[in-house]
Amino acid sequence: RLSVTGIVKRFGAVTALAGIDLTVEEGEFLTILGPSGSGKTTLLKAVAGFEVPDEGQVHLGDQDVTLSAARHRNVGMVFQNYALFPHMTVAENIAFPLEMRRVSKPEITKRVGETLALVELETYGARLPRQLSGGQQQRVALARAIVFGPALLLLDEPFGALDRKLRESLQLEVRRLQRRLRLTTLFITHDQEEALIMSDRIAVMDQGRIQQIGTPADVYDKPVSRFVADFIGESN
Ligand code: ATP
Repeated sequence: RLSVTGIVKRFGAVTALAGIDLTVEEGEFLTILGPSGSGKTTLLKAVAGFEVPDEGQVHLGDQDVTLSAARHRNVGMVFQNYALFPHMTVAENIAFPLEMRRVSKPEITKRVGETLALVELETYGARLPRQLSGGQQQRVALARAIVFGPALLLLDEPFGALDRKLRESLQLEVRRLQRRLRLTTLFITHDQEEALIMSDRIAVMDQGRIQQIGTPADVYDKPVSRFVADFIGESN
Protein backbone atom coordinates (compact mmCIF):
# COMPACT_ATOMS: atom_id res chain seq x y z
CA ARG A 1 0.00 0.00 0.00
CA LEU A 2 1.33 3.40 -1.01
CA SER A 3 0.26 6.49 0.81
CA VAL A 4 1.27 10.01 0.01
CA THR A 5 0.32 12.83 2.37
CA GLY A 6 0.59 16.58 1.91
CA ILE A 7 3.28 16.47 -0.77
CA VAL A 8 4.47 19.89 -1.92
CA LYS A 9 7.28 20.40 -4.45
CA ARG A 10 8.45 23.74 -5.79
CA PHE A 11 10.99 24.54 -8.48
CA GLY A 12 11.83 28.20 -7.91
CA ALA A 13 8.64 30.12 -8.58
CA VAL A 14 6.85 27.05 -10.00
CA THR A 15 4.77 24.93 -7.63
CA ALA A 16 4.82 21.54 -9.34
CA LEU A 17 2.91 19.81 -6.52
CA ALA A 18 0.62 21.92 -4.37
CA GLY A 19 -0.38 19.42 -1.66
CA ILE A 20 -1.06 15.86 -2.82
CA ASP A 21 -2.85 13.25 -0.71
CA LEU A 22 -3.24 9.85 -2.31
CA THR A 23 -3.49 6.19 -1.32
CA VAL A 24 -2.99 3.25 -3.65
CA GLU A 25 -4.45 0.17 -2.00
CA GLU A 26 -2.80 -3.25 -2.02
CA GLY A 27 -3.27 -4.79 -5.48
CA GLU A 28 -4.90 -1.65 -6.89
CA PHE A 29 -4.18 -0.14 -10.31
CA LEU A 30 -4.41 3.63 -9.88
CA THR A 31 -3.83 6.04 -12.73
CA ILE A 32 -2.68 9.64 -12.51
CA LEU A 33 -4.23 11.36 -15.51
CA GLY A 34 -3.49 14.95 -16.39
CA PRO A 35 -2.28 17.35 -19.07
CA SER A 36 1.35 18.19 -19.72
CA GLY A 37 2.87 20.16 -16.86
CA SER A 38 0.23 19.13 -14.31
CA GLY A 39 2.85 17.51 -12.04
CA LYS A 40 2.45 13.79 -12.82
CA THR A 41 6.11 13.02 -13.31
CA THR A 42 7.14 15.11 -10.31
CA LEU A 43 4.74 13.11 -8.14
CA LEU A 44 6.11 9.85 -9.49
CA LYS A 45 9.67 10.99 -8.82
CA ALA A 46 8.79 11.86 -5.22
CA VAL A 47 7.30 8.38 -4.81
CA ALA A 48 10.27 6.71 -6.51
CA GLY A 49 12.86 8.65 -4.52
CA PHE A 50 14.32 10.80 -7.32
CA GLU A 51 12.97 14.04 -5.87
CA VAL A 52 12.77 15.00 -2.20
CA PRO A 53 9.51 16.83 -1.56
CA ASP A 54 9.59 20.21 0.22
CA GLU A 55 6.73 19.08 2.44
CA GLY A 56 4.79 15.89 3.11
CA GLN A 57 5.45 12.17 3.47
CA VAL A 58 5.57 9.03 1.39
CA HIS A 59 4.75 5.72 3.11
CA LEU A 60 5.19 2.26 1.62
CA GLY A 61 3.30 -0.11 3.87
CA ASP A 62 4.14 1.00 7.42
CA GLN A 63 7.46 2.49 6.43
CA ASP A 64 8.12 6.21 6.01
CA VAL A 65 10.36 6.32 2.91
CA THR A 66 10.20 10.08 2.31
CA LEU A 67 13.96 10.45 2.71
CA SER A 68 15.09 6.96 1.63
CA ALA A 69 17.24 6.57 -1.47
CA ALA A 70 15.45 5.19 -4.53
CA ARG A 71 17.38 1.91 -4.41
CA HIS A 72 16.11 1.21 -0.89
CA ARG A 73 12.43 1.60 -1.72
CA ASN A 74 11.55 -1.81 -3.23
CA VAL A 75 9.83 -0.11 -6.13
CA GLY A 76 9.80 -1.36 -9.75
CA MET A 77 9.70 1.21 -12.54
CA VAL A 78 9.04 1.34 -16.27
CA PHE A 79 9.41 4.58 -18.22
CA GLN A 80 8.55 5.63 -21.72
CA ASN A 81 12.11 5.42 -22.94
CA TYR A 82 12.77 1.88 -21.83
CA ALA A 83 16.38 2.29 -20.75
CA LEU A 84 17.45 -1.33 -21.00
CA PHE A 85 21.20 -1.83 -20.68
CA PRO A 86 22.13 -2.08 -24.37
CA HIS A 87 25.26 -4.20 -23.90
CA MET A 88 23.52 -6.79 -21.69
CA THR A 89 21.35 -9.63 -22.90
CA VAL A 90 17.65 -9.74 -22.08
CA ALA A 91 18.30 -12.30 -19.31
CA GLU A 92 21.14 -10.18 -17.88
CA ASN A 93 18.92 -7.10 -17.89
CA ILE A 94 16.24 -8.94 -15.93
CA ALA A 95 18.82 -10.47 -13.57
CA PHE A 96 20.32 -7.06 -12.75
CA PRO A 97 17.96 -6.02 -9.91
CA LEU A 98 18.39 -9.47 -8.35
CA GLU A 99 22.17 -9.16 -8.47
CA MET A 100 21.93 -5.75 -6.81
CA ARG A 101 19.98 -7.47 -4.05
CA ARG A 102 22.58 -10.24 -3.74
CA VAL A 103 20.17 -13.03 -4.62
CA SER A 104 21.97 -16.39 -5.13
CA LYS A 105 22.89 -17.51 -8.67
CA PRO A 106 20.52 -20.52 -8.84
CA GLU A 107 17.65 -18.40 -7.52
CA ILE A 108 18.42 -15.71 -10.13
CA THR A 109 18.35 -18.28 -12.94
CA LYS A 110 15.02 -19.62 -11.69
CA ARG A 111 13.37 -16.23 -11.26
CA VAL A 112 14.62 -14.84 -14.58
CA GLY A 113 13.19 -17.92 -16.33
CA GLU A 114 9.83 -17.56 -14.59
CA THR A 115 9.63 -13.85 -15.32
CA LEU A 116 10.55 -14.30 -18.99
CA ALA A 117 7.68 -16.79 -19.19
CA LEU A 118 5.31 -14.29 -17.55
CA VAL A 119 5.98 -11.76 -20.33
CA GLU A 120 6.00 -14.50 -22.97
CA LEU A 121 9.61 -14.05 -24.00
CA GLU A 122 10.93 -17.48 -22.90
CA THR A 123 13.11 -17.90 -25.97
CA TYR A 124 14.55 -14.37 -26.03
CA GLY A 125 16.86 -14.48 -22.99
CA ALA A 126 20.12 -14.56 -24.97
CA ARG A 127 19.27 -11.66 -27.29
CA LEU A 128 20.44 -8.09 -26.99
CA PRO A 129 17.79 -5.38 -26.57
CA ARG A 130 18.43 -3.96 -30.06
CA GLN A 131 17.48 -7.35 -31.52
CA LEU A 132 13.95 -6.94 -30.15
CA SER A 133 10.95 -4.90 -31.30
CA GLY A 134 9.86 -1.85 -29.29
CA GLY A 135 7.00 -3.76 -27.70
CA GLN A 136 9.25 -6.67 -26.77
CA GLN A 137 11.76 -4.27 -25.25
CA GLN A 138 9.00 -2.77 -23.17
CA ARG A 139 8.01 -6.25 -21.96
CA VAL A 140 11.63 -6.84 -20.91
CA ALA A 141 11.54 -3.52 -19.02
CA LEU A 142 8.37 -4.71 -17.31
CA ALA A 143 10.00 -8.06 -16.45
CA ARG A 144 12.98 -6.24 -14.96
CA ALA A 145 10.64 -4.08 -12.88
CA ILE A 146 8.70 -7.00 -11.38
CA VAL A 147 11.34 -9.76 -11.08
CA PHE A 148 12.25 -8.88 -7.48
CA GLY A 149 8.67 -8.74 -6.22
CA PRO A 150 8.38 -4.97 -5.69
CA ALA A 151 5.96 -3.54 -3.12
CA LEU A 152 4.97 -0.97 -5.74
CA LEU A 153 5.11 -0.75 -9.52
CA LEU A 154 5.48 2.69 -11.14
CA LEU A 155 4.66 3.07 -14.82
CA ASP A 156 5.32 6.44 -16.48
CA GLU A 157 3.72 6.53 -19.95
CA PRO A 158 5.18 3.10 -20.69
CA PHE A 159 3.40 2.75 -24.05
CA GLY A 160 4.03 6.31 -25.22
CA ALA A 161 6.51 5.42 -27.93
CA LEU A 162 4.50 2.54 -29.40
CA ASP A 163 1.99 2.43 -32.23
CA ARG A 164 -1.70 2.06 -31.51
CA LYS A 165 -2.11 -1.70 -32.03
CA LEU A 166 0.91 -2.53 -29.93
CA ARG A 167 -0.24 -0.14 -27.25
CA GLU A 168 -3.58 -1.87 -27.00
CA SER A 169 -2.13 -5.35 -26.71
CA LEU A 170 0.41 -4.20 -24.12
CA GLN A 171 -2.29 -2.43 -22.11
CA LEU A 172 -4.14 -5.73 -21.83
CA GLU A 173 -1.00 -7.66 -21.06
CA VAL A 174 0.12 -5.29 -18.32
CA ARG A 175 -3.33 -5.35 -16.74
CA ARG A 176 -3.48 -9.16 -16.88
CA LEU A 177 -0.08 -9.45 -15.18
CA GLN A 178 -0.88 -6.78 -12.64
CA ARG A 179 -4.06 -8.60 -11.61
CA ARG A 180 -2.45 -12.01 -11.56
CA LEU A 181 0.45 -10.85 -9.36
CA ARG A 182 -1.72 -8.41 -7.38
CA LEU A 183 0.80 -5.65 -7.98
CA THR A 184 0.10 -2.32 -6.32
CA THR A 185 0.48 -0.04 -9.33
CA LEU A 186 0.72 3.70 -9.94
CA PHE A 187 0.37 4.47 -13.62
CA ILE A 188 0.86 7.82 -15.33
CA THR A 189 -0.69 8.89 -18.58
CA HIS A 190 -2.10 11.91 -20.35
CA ASP A 191 -4.30 9.60 -22.48
CA GLN A 192 -7.91 9.66 -21.25
CA GLU A 193 -8.93 6.51 -23.11
CA GLU A 194 -6.01 4.54 -21.74
CA ALA A 195 -6.88 5.66 -18.20
CA LEU A 196 -10.54 4.74 -18.61
CA ILE A 197 -9.73 1.29 -19.98
CA MET A 198 -7.03 0.27 -17.54
CA SER A 199 -7.69 1.71 -14.11
CA ASP A 200 -9.36 0.64 -10.89
CA ARG A 201 -9.34 4.33 -9.98
CA ILE A 202 -8.24 7.51 -11.73
CA ALA A 203 -6.82 10.63 -10.08
CA VAL A 204 -7.26 13.58 -12.43
CA MET A 205 -4.47 16.10 -11.91
CA ASP A 206 -4.11 19.73 -12.91
CA GLN A 207 -1.79 22.49 -11.70
CA GLY A 208 -0.18 20.33 -9.04
CA ARG A 209 -3.45 19.23 -7.44
CA ILE A 210 -5.70 16.21 -7.66
CA GLN A 211 -8.92 17.63 -9.03
CA GLN A 212 -10.94 14.43 -8.71
CA ILE A 213 -10.34 10.82 -7.75
CA GLY A 214 -12.69 7.93 -8.38
CA THR A 215 -13.51 4.94 -10.55
CA PRO A 216 -13.46 5.44 -14.33
CA ALA A 217 -17.27 5.54 -14.24
CA ASP A 218 -17.22 8.21 -11.50
CA VAL A 219 -14.91 10.61 -13.29
CA TYR A 220 -16.53 9.99 -16.67
CA ASP A 221 -20.17 10.23 -15.57
CA LYS A 222 -19.86 12.61 -12.64
CA PRO A 223 -17.02 15.05 -13.25
CA VAL A 224 -16.73 17.49 -10.32
CA SER A 225 -15.58 20.44 -12.39
CA ARG A 226 -15.51 21.92 -15.84
CA PHE A 227 -11.83 21.07 -16.11
CA VAL A 228 -12.41 17.36 -15.42
CA ALA A 229 -15.39 17.22 -17.76
CA ASP A 230 -13.46 18.86 -20.60
CA PHE A 231 -10.30 16.89 -20.07
CA ILE A 232 -12.00 13.48 -19.78
CA GLY A 233 -14.23 14.30 -22.73
CA GLU A 234 -11.34 15.24 -25.01
CA SER A 235 -10.43 12.62 -27.56
CA ASN A 236 -6.88 12.16 -28.80
P1 ATP B 1 4.33 15.86 -18.93
O1 ATP B 1 3.08 15.06 -19.18
O2 ATP B 1 4.59 16.88 -19.98
O3 ATP B 1 5.52 15.02 -18.59
P2 ATP B 1 3.84 16.34 -16.10
O4 ATP B 1 2.40 16.37 -15.74
O5 ATP B 1 4.60 15.10 -15.83
O6 ATP B 1 4.01 16.77 -17.61
P3 ATP B 1 5.87 17.61 -14.49
O7 ATP B 1 6.98 17.14 -15.34
O8 ATP B 1 5.67 16.93 -13.18
O9 ATP B 1 4.50 17.55 -15.31
O10 ATP B 1 6.06 19.17 -14.28
C1 ATP B 1 5.22 19.97 -13.42
C2 ATP B 1 5.72 21.41 -13.42
O11 ATP B 1 6.98 21.48 -12.75
C3 ATP B 1 5.95 21.99 -14.81
O12 ATP B 1 5.57 23.34 -14.77
C4 ATP B 1 7.43 21.83 -15.01
O13 ATP B 1 7.92 22.80 -15.89
C5 ATP B 1 7.97 22.00 -13.61
N1 ATP B 1 9.22 21.24 -13.39
C6 ATP B 1 9.33 19.89 -13.36
N2 ATP B 1 10.59 19.50 -13.10
C7 ATP B 1 11.33 20.65 -12.98
C8 ATP B 1 12.70 20.93 -12.70
N3 ATP B 1 13.60 19.95 -12.49
N4 ATP B 1 13.08 22.23 -12.66
C9 ATP B 1 12.19 23.22 -12.85
N5 ATP B 1 10.88 23.01 -13.10
C10 ATP B 1 10.45 21.76 -13.16
